[in-house]
Amino acid sequence: MPSSVTSPSRPAARPTVAVILVAAGRGIRAASTGEPPKQYRHLQGRPVIARTIEAFLNHPGIDRVLTVIHPDDRDLYAKAVAGLDDPRLVLPVPGGADRQASCLAGLAALAATAPDYVLIHDAVRPFIRHDAIDRVIEALGREVAVLCGVPVIDTVKRADEAGYVAETVPRERLWRAATPQGFRYKEIAAAHKALAARGITGVTDDAAVAELAGHRVLLVDGGADNIKLTTAEDFQMAEQRLAAEAFLACPDVRVGTGYDVHVLEPGDGVTLCGVFIPHDQRLKGHSDADVALHALTDAILGALGDGDIGKHFPPSDNRWRGAASALFLKDAVRRVAERGGILAHCDVTIIAEAPKVGPHRETMRQAIADTCGITVDRVGVKATTNEGLGFAGRREGIAAIATATVRLPLGGV
Ligand code: MG
Repeated sequence: MPSSVTSPSRPAARPTVAVILVAAGRGIRAASTGEPPKQYRHLQGRPVIARTIEAFLNHPGIDRVLTVIHPDDRDLYAKAVAGLDDPRLVLPVPGGADRQASCLAGLAALAATAPDYVLIHDAVRPFIRHDAIDRVIEALGREVAVLCGVPVIDTVKRADEAGYVAETVPRERLWRAATPQGFRYKEIAAAHKALAARGITGVTDDAAVAELAGHRVLLVDGGADNIKLTTAEDFQMAEQRLAAEAFLACPDVRVGTGYDVHVLEPGDGVTLCGVFIPHDQRLKGHSDADVALHALTDAILGALGDGDIGKHFPPSDNRWRGAASALFLKDAVRRVAERGGILAHCDVTIIAEAPKVGPHRETMRQAIADTCGITVDRVGVKATTNEGLGFAGRREGIAAIATATVRLPLGGV
């Protein structure tokens, strides 16, 4: 063997770590109401499962993330992970009749690449932190099986059948089991296979599979906030938590304004806030002349201190001839994201004698919300006439004023 292989100066190879996300459950309520299963529900605009996957992809020690999904959820899954372009996220595999069977399917799918360690995690625990993942991986250097949990801090009572306290259970050494549950891959794969071969089904957690195979399972602290999203209250709390985190992450509040005017000429309609309204005039301009979206784009650029629409999309450039102005707005929103910020709010006022904007207001708000990737409650659209005064009053043009609030992280450029 070449000496370099055994040289003590050569760093030991890092163990390879795969993650199996168990997402094959459908939930009785979801099945009966037609709601998507919990792992596909949105939290602050993003599916829970995408957040969970990202929590692992953001950890540098993770080499592969495999999701086990219900065969009926292929489309939901594809939609949820669209945009998560990371080669470590491999194609999902269909789950089995219960959690145990789904984990076995996941472990079998990893056989070809046989990682050193595998972490099995609930897809509905998106708040798993790096330090908890670190603790599991570190412990697997010494142990075959590691269980993330939380020491019980509440006093625990056991009730009798009538609902009265029968006894106070000593809470010393009591833990609530959670995930990830980490294992040496070969050992847990063998334990799962052996159980299946013996016809034992319905084992609800993988640590129990390891226990049944005779392995000792070490408990490590998984963090009290690593909750399993189960009830409506859990989702509500998670929403509030994420909103608060986003708020605190971007404390630098900036407000920008924008103003634009386009000339009216005879035509068949105008595009305002991305919505075409049939009319006996049209707006003259290089692009689709959406005066409202131009003002809004400038408001966002203004909040960023990043020039104006004319600087980024010069009218002299033929690429923007007839362009849908949503493109300019999207670019401004991209600049906010690039700086780690969020668009917190925007508000547009259209100044026109005609056509009437009121009937289109909600469609316009939704169009802006969709283009900006924010919720519609953060978008205002208003219209006013100019009481017959000036160019707007004479129907020679339409003006628009916009305000945008952008929140940036501290220390941004
Ligand atoms: Mg313009």
